[in-house]
Amino acid sequence: MKHTIIAIDGYSSCGKSTMAKQLAKQLAFTYIDTGAMYRAVALFALRNHLIVDGEINLEALKISLKDVKISFCSPNADGKADICLNGENVEKEIRGMEVSNTVSIVAQVPEVREKMIDLQREIANGCDVVMDGRDIGTVVFPHADLKIFVMADAGIRAKRRYDELLAKGENASLEDIRKNIEMRDQMDLTRPISPLRQAEDALVLDNGLMTIEEQNAWLLNKYQELKDAQH
Ligand code: C5P
Repeated sequence: MKHTIIAIDGYSSCGKSTMAKQLAKQLAFTYIDTGAMYRAVALFALRNHLIVDGEINLEALKISLKDVKISFCSPNADGKADICLNGENVEKEIRGMEVSNTVSIVAQVPEVREKMIDLQREIANGCDVVMDGRDIGTVVFPHADLKIFVMADAGIRAKRRYDELLAKGENASLEDIRKNIEMRDQMDLTRPISPLRQAEDALVLDNGLMTIEEQNAWLLNKYQELKDAQH
């Protein structure tokens, strides 16, 4: 049986994970957060002092990659599976500013991308998936059934992320968040391999002024159109 792949790519902090998770739950698909995988590698690099003051020790990281085991735990009631680094649940730790500030450096390393892409394809093998990231519709699954490219104004994205962190009781500066988002956009857009770009056949969703409910309705509608076209 052919399985369905829904690829959701786009800029940092666009709410891709929230919408992808909700859609996967509604369709009873597996949800795969590929950003979490790159974040876990960045956490590994930080813990092992392979990134110091923003400088990466490339050779050491490449050698150590064989010791990096990324996996997902069993999904919770929401269908969201936490990420594990060498068997340890690091879901909370990968969301902090230290990892956010270094993840795009690690994500530029070809060997890291190769390893993550192989793993993404392996996890998706044999199931219906919603996968979110930067290069899912362009590189990981260029033949995905449905490709969505999400964007929104950087100021709006920063404010959303700021409110989210405050709601969790975490300390945050709107200015720092905005800088981090813009820095990641820039690095993701300009890296030589798998840069962030819209696949030619992707549908664009500018969600700057949309509620989560409106985005969800939009996605369900696109999925329905796909199903109708297949029959
Ligand atoms: O999605 P999230 O913001 O958690 O991703 C963290 C970082 O991981 C991104 O800024 C990007 O540098 C990198 N990433 C990537 N390719 C993906 C997913 C994430 O390069 N498929």
